[in-house]
Amino acid sequence: MEQDHSCRFPQGHVLFQEGDAADAAYIIESGTIIISTGSGDDRQQLSELGPGEILGEMALIDAKTRTATATCASDCTLRIIHRDALVQRIEAADPIIRHLLQLTLQRYRDQIQSEPPTPYTVARGQNNKAHEALEKLNLEVDLRQALDEGQLQCVYQPIQNLARGRIAGFEALTRWQHPQLGAINPEAFINLAEETDLIVPIGLHNLRQACHDLKAFQAAVSDTELFMSINVSGRQLHHPGFSRQVLEIVQAEGIHPRQIKLEITENLVVDFERVQHWIQESKAHGFRISLDDFGTGYSGMSLLCQLDLNTLKIDKSFVQSMFDSRCEAVVLETMVHLGLGLELDIIAEGVETEAHEHRLRELGVQFGQGYLYARPLGREEILASNLL
Ligand code: C2E
Ligand code: CA
Ligand code: CA
Repeated sequence: MEQDHSCRFPQGHVLFQEGDAADAAYIIESGTIIISTGSGDDRQQLSELGPGEILGEMALIDAKTRTATATCASDCTLRIIHRDALVQRIEAADPIIRHLLQLTLQRYRDQIQSEPPTPYTVARGQNNKAHEALEKLNLEVDLRQALDEGQLQCVYQPIQNLARGRIAGFEALTRWQHPQLGAINPEAFINLAEETDLIVPIGLHNLRQACHDLKAFQAAVSDTELFMSINVSGRQLHHPGFSRQVLEIVQAEGIHPRQIKLEITENLVVDFERVQHWIQESKAHGFRISLDDFGTGYSGMSLLCQLDLNTLKIDKSFVQSMFDSRCEAVVLETMVHLGLGLELDIIAEGVETEAHEHRLRELGVQFGQGYLYARPLGREEILASNLL
């Protein structure tokens, strides 16, 4: 890609004309530029731009030809931004923002060309990317409403104590039954919630429901103190007052913080200092901290020494491939030895067969979670089952 650079242009120079293909935008360092449409008697001046202003970006954003002419009204020095630099940024932007930007631009173009305004809706198949962006925006509006109307429910997946062959706790997982679209994939709506601050109220709502239901589950079990694992995402940690709100909810529901395992993922630890501080604060309140999806991220092993964790959750992909090859078996064994050596509890996810369970128990893994024991179940299903 060519480097952006500055150039001088004399008074009267035409930078670009209506109908030209667009290859660059310009930032004015000195001088004045006139933007106009038409020619001769029909010429109409749209604006006069000075130092610090940008021009020529519109045609780069929506890949159209120039809709106006730019002429230097005095000698000018301009910084040239080549097409690639801008286009790469636009392509990397949030699809909703990209779509709204293009729509706004189109409306502006319609206005200067006196065309009827472009409709907001895009027919399916006409423009897939625009359609996807609008669908996402629609789903986000629905998700806000879902939270207000109680359409979000927690389900609980049992976690088994492998040595005792008894239930030890649960992971709370969220489900959304959309009134028109039916069950929405959790990964999809959780990602959507994580892109906005919606994950904060959703997370608190889940925590409240999970604590409430843990109380009911605990009432049916007298020989073990059950725990509840709660997924925490990056946005929540950045939210002011998050730790205090978590503590208040847990206390209000009459649950001891040691019964709550807050699950974070490796990918969240990019903001290392904030996470470390949050872990210290949460542990001081009595909560336990679990590292989820261990082995799937890009952080190094040193993370385990730097974060004060209680539990390591081995991702289901490692459990499910442990009999595939000698190499996969060694990777799993090494992860377990590492966790045990650091005196962490280990929860293996994705336990689907007796053979998985047997091997994990042999390796010294304390807890298992997976379809062998149960799929995620609703509160009433748990209470009616023989799991407790
Ligand atoms: P996760 O935290 O890794 O949750 C475990 C996922 O593995 C769950 O999928 C669970 O249903 C699935 N699973 C459990 N046992 C087995 C098994 O034996 N085999 C297989 N193939 N899968 C198994 P689910 O419920 O679809 O959740 C997907 C992800 O969505 C979760 O992954 C978690 O990252 C996120 N998530 C769900 N609920 C919440 C929430 O309330 N808050 C946040 N922040 N994230 C959530
Ligand atoms: Ca989890
Ligand atoms: Ca996981």
